[in-house]
Amino acid sequence: MNTKEFPIGKTRICLIQGDLTDMETDAIVNAANPSLMGGGGVDGAIHRKGGPKILEECKHIRATEWRNGLPTGKAVITSGGNLKARHVIHTVGPVWQGGNRGEPELLAEAYKNSLRLAVSEKLKTIAFPSISTGAYGYPIREASRIATETVKDFLEKVDKLETVVFVLFSAHDFEIYRKVAKEVFGFSISDEDSAA
Ligand code: ADP
Repeated sequence: MNTKEFPIGKTRICLIQGDLTDMETDAIVNAANPSLMGGGGVDGAIHRKGGPKILEECKHIRATEWRNGLPTGKAVITSGGNLKARHVIHTVGPVWQGGNRGEPELLAEAYKNSLRLAVSEKLKTIAFPSISTGAYGYPIREASRIATETVKDFLEKVDKLETVVFVLFSAHDFEIYRKVAKEVFGFSISDEDSAA
């Protein structure tokens, strides 16, 4: 399996090429849509594998806390149903509209609010997909920089997580994240790719 690790304070940052729904972290993050009723991409995969309990909890959230849907950049938490991860943090990334409609700030908010929620729930390990870069069309180079810089900024202020994982579905996406992460986090622990 394609894997890379970077230390940031006490936290380990991992890049993995694989399937988010296989992660055994305390939480995985869902790139949801405002309805919280499931969808395509990673959202569909989470609900398929996690079973109906997650959807029931999402329906409860919609009936109580977020009647008009979860706004872009916000995050909520449910159990992980049948997943190996105990929790799913559902966040809504921005739809790419050219980049001048607040997309960078909203994407950073989605990561930040997911991390805040993990810390407030006393979770230690969390795994992210590449939010917004599928159906929502966010260019992955720009998105990967925001994802990694936002996580770095957060961990420099809040030193409470053990592991943050970025799970990239394709080798292409993994390669883009690997290059950006090396710039943002510094050299990787293993320096087998230092000549790359
Ligand atoms: P969004 O609507 O936020 O763009 P998508 O689910 O369409 O969300 O895509 C986000 C990213 O998640 C894409 O890079 C897509 O390839 C990836 N993805 C889809 N399924 C999985 C999965 N099971 N594990 C990890 N990443 C996935």
